[in-house]
Amino acid sequence: MKTFSINTLGCKVNQYEGQQIQELLEQFGLHNIGLSEKPELVVVNTCCVTHTASAKSRRYIRKAQKLSPDALIVVCGCLPTVNIGELNDFGTNVHLIRNRGCLVAELSRLTNGKAIAPNSRSHQFCPDLNNIIKTKISPKIKDKNELSDYLNLPPLNSFKGRTRAFLKIQDGCDGYCTYCIVPKTRPFVHSKSADVVIHEAQALMEAGHKEIVVTGVFLGAYGQDSVRRKNWPNRQNNNLADLLDKMAEIPNLARIRLSSLEPADVTPRLLDTFSKHRNIMPHLHLSLQSGSNVILKKMCRQYNSDEFREKIELIKDRLDRPAITTDIIVGFPGETDSDFEQTVALAKDAGFAKMHIFTFSPRKGTAAAKMQNTIDNRAKKERSILLHNLNTELARIYRQQFIGQTAKVLLENDNGQLYGRCERYFMVHLQKNTRSSEKNELLKVRLIKNCTDGLIGQIVPVAD
Ligand code: SF4
Repeated sequence: MKTFSINTLGCKVNQYEGQQIQELLEQFGLHNIGLSEKPELVVVNTCCVTHTASAKSRRYIRKAQKLSPDALIVVCGCLPTVNIGELNDFGTNVHLIRNRGCLVAELSRLTNGKAIAPNSRSHQFCPDLNNIIKTKISPKIKDKNELSDYLNLPPLNSFKGRTRAFLKIQDGCDGYCTYCIVPKTRPFVHSKSADVVIHEAQALMEAGHKEIVVTGVFLGAYGQDSVRRKNWPNRQNNNLADLLDKMAEIPNLARIRLSSLEPADVTPRLLDTFSKHRNIMPHLHLSLQSGSNVILKKMCRQYNSDEFREKIELIKDRLDRPAITTDIIVGFPGETDSDFEQTVALAKDAGFAKMHIFTFSPRKGTAAAKMQNTIDNRAKKERSILLHNLNTELARIYRQQFIGQTAKVLLENDNGQLYGRCERYFMVHLQKNTRSSEKNELLKVRLIKNCTDGLIGQIVPVAD
């Protein structure tokens, strides 16, 4: 076998693993080509967080079968790990990886790929048991034979096609928020050791990535064997802050950004780390989901609205105009007008720099899918529109305070349209300039005015 093609759907964790699979296949000697060029192997790294994500994954499998009828199709990622009847009847050329722990061996067997050389860097830092800290199986998983093991792919050397590289440091969830299927697809709560993370971050930096996005299924549980804080000694976890302290010291690593956290993960110790290192970006993504305590309880979230507000105040007190972004679900079963108004009020008080708004849809295999008092589609749509409008307004107000000041922008594109993200993650579109600029360059920019999805900026000459 000489050629392959890979398509990854879903979250940052899945995107990261897609890159690992790509690197592994290249190490096996295969060449990555387009689907229409009829590769011999097609890998579909699926997502099943919603029914739509599952449907997209299935559509891609069918597309691969149509465009490359002779290819062997390997379906991995989250969808085949759960037994919810969403992956049937695909025929004999489709190979499902139901246990993540088998993926590397299966790819090696199917491609006749050689094992990684024992003295190579990848082998040295392969996440074997010595490099995994804290792993256990959620007691809620009944059928242990159905379990998907943890994925033992080698660490990444570069994140192809992206300026920002994602780096997974934690995997697994036993939180069982009632709307979420992830604890069934990734039940093993485990983390990479600091040594592995530092070596990987170093390799990504050496490959030219100026920004690393530290990611995980439940980042705040880094180094713990459960995501439920009641299971932690003292209910405190400084492991993430300790790791960031080390990462931030990597010479020439320009930017570290954290992906999603919960409010209780943001401890004074973590904020000290943010203040201490200028290369940790002043951006925190805290998933709110709802501003109503009744709904938060039904969702089984680990915080209430007062705790969320207090944490926002603390962050604003300790950091300089931080970007606080969030996720919100509208139309969760039982959400009254009053519950929704509480979400709106909290969003206004927090002054979110960006809200990701999701309309609730029941996910088969979760507790919320069986809940009564569902919200009718019209009400869901109205609430979603209202929140999207609020998002536009809050984001504009947040950005406005930076007009006239300078920011550093990491250029994401060099094909005529110049844009990139600044420290606080909002998009900056650059005015045409005589100075030529390249993708992945960090540019000093003067921020001039607001536009629909960000700010307009002007490159500041180097001498300034
Ligand atoms: S904490 Fe809740 S929302 Fe997050 S992955 Fe776990 S179950 Fe899903």
